[in-house]
Amino acid sequence: MGDSAFRVNQVGYTAGLPVRVAVLAEGPVILEDKEGKTVFRADDIRLGMDEASGDRVFLLDIGVLSEGQYILRCGGENRKITVRAEAWREAGNALIKGLYYQRCGCELKKEHAGPFSHAACHIRPATDWNDRSVQRLVTGGWHDAGDYGKYVSPGAVAAAHLMYAWKLFPGGCRDDLNIPETGNGIPDILNEAKYELDWLLKMQRMNGAFHHKLTKDHFAGFIMPEEDADQEYMMPESHCATGAACACTALASRVYRPWDEEFANALLLSAQKAWEWLEQHDGDFEPFRNPEGVRTGQYGDGSDRDERFWAACELFAATGRDSFRIAAEKLYAEGQHLTRFGWADVGGLGGLCCLTELKEKAGSILYSKLKEDFLSESEALLQMSGESGYRTALTKDMYIWGSILPVMGNAMAMILNYLLTGREEMRDAALSQLDYALGLNALDICFVTGFGERRVMHPHHRPSGADHIEEPVPGLISGGPNKNWPYAATKEKLGADIPPAKYYLDETPSADTNEVAVYWNSPAVFTFAFFNSFTAAAGDRTANASTIPQGS
Ligand SMILES: [Zn+2]
Repeated sequence: MGDSAFRVNQVGYTAGLPVRVAVLAEGPVILEDKEGKTVFRADDIRLGMDEASGDRVFLLDIGVLSEGQYILRCGGENRKITVRAEAWREAGNALIKGLYYQRCGCELKKEHAGPFSHAACHIRPATDWNDRSVQRLVTGGWHDAGDYGKYVSPGAVAAAHLMYAWKLFPGGCRDDLNIPETGNGIPDILNEAKYELDWLLKMQRMNGAFHHKLTKDHFAGFIMPEEDADQEYMMPESHCATGAACACTALASRVYRPWDEEFANALLLSAQKAWEWLEQHDGDFEPFRNPEGVRTGQYGDGSDRDERFWAACELFAATGRDSFRIAAEKLYAEGQHLTRFGWADVGGLGGLCCLTELKEKAGSILYSKLKEDFLSESEALLQMSGESGYRTALTKDMYIWGSILPVMGNAMAMILNYLLTGREEMRDAALSQLDYALGLNALDICFVTGFGERRVMHPHHRPSGADHIEEPVPGLISGGPNKNWPYAATKEKLGADIPPAKYYLDETPSADTNEVAVYWNSPAVFTFAFFNSFTAAAGDRTANASTIPQGS
């Protein structure tokens, strides 16, 4: 018997939250428990066209189920689902540990990395691209993605997602992860973020600006990182990198203060120096472009206003100085996208700071007005999710390179809406995005490596391709379908008729659909931390409630 009639969350469901499955065949659908007893039956299956995938599909809401194993039946087809107390805890932990596997400049020891261990990589001094006489040791940080470059804005944003996950949902991301720092008294999610922050601080120039990135002038082949011995360069400074790093270090100065005063002070000093540079360079913004002869990721960004806005919010939260509030208000008046949490548009992170940390202290514009704006912006996401056959918060035109980023970013926005309003339909729409990542999607694939019965096996990720191990490095989330900007080779394989939500190849060369990236893992970490905190033990839940802003 086949399983093609259903798409399910392959990692499982959690008692207390609704179980939804996608049905692709006429009903009736029967749900049986382990003993074969029918516990649920749906006769009224109304298939409708899902534009993004071309599937005729019905999203069946089974409601809350108690723990156990179940079988879905429809005609001759069946599919197993499981309901567990903390179904996503392991996957959430793996997504954080996935960042550990991206660590650069250190050995990944067997005791932490198992079969994915490797020798220290990229440990030689880097050369300043603009002044070849300058060499500095800028080791550490995370390899950005499938490649071995290290990029400031994406790294700063990813670290921020982890820190906010911890600030808002400590009960959902507090487990030990078996990384080198485990047991040092600091939660491992923050230990992992600190590995990136330590590197980030090294990327700041004497003048306060941040180098845009640390890469070679070309991408390495599919070799292990320790075999990638060509010269790395500190590429020129950029406004966006400086703004994002400024915001991230200001945030980190508050997060790490309870554990490490000295580190917190260094972070705040770095943020203030970066802000001074930004003030001195308010009128001379230019998007970063790769210098001639450089072919690594550009991460060009057409505006630094959102990075400045986020930075001003975080600095106001860190110092209480009114000049930062005034700066943030001015930048807010220019227009910010409050539901965007990715590396290019960080307006949502500024909003997150105002709505969850500053609150009334932010004043009427940055709290009351911003909250009103945020609630109306995020409302549109609920509608978008509702219009999708799979409840995915993307329209058919939004399957871009790394479509998992807007999926997870939209989940973050819906979670924030839920925190502010308590609306369960928002929480459940966010849950649909987690379900999407774990297999409830048109492709019937679990996008997190190491998880799911139908899993990603060939991510565009150099260590996974070069390590001679069949399984890819675990805990990495694939970028997913991309019809907006596919490679010619992908177009040749898939043709023009495959719908956007299915424009995907689980093949190593397909960076356009199957790459991984630290800043795709990180919004998933935030999303999983929320749902894991929700389902964690009752004690954790109580501890959490005090950090969740109530009321609207
Ligand atoms: Zn490295």
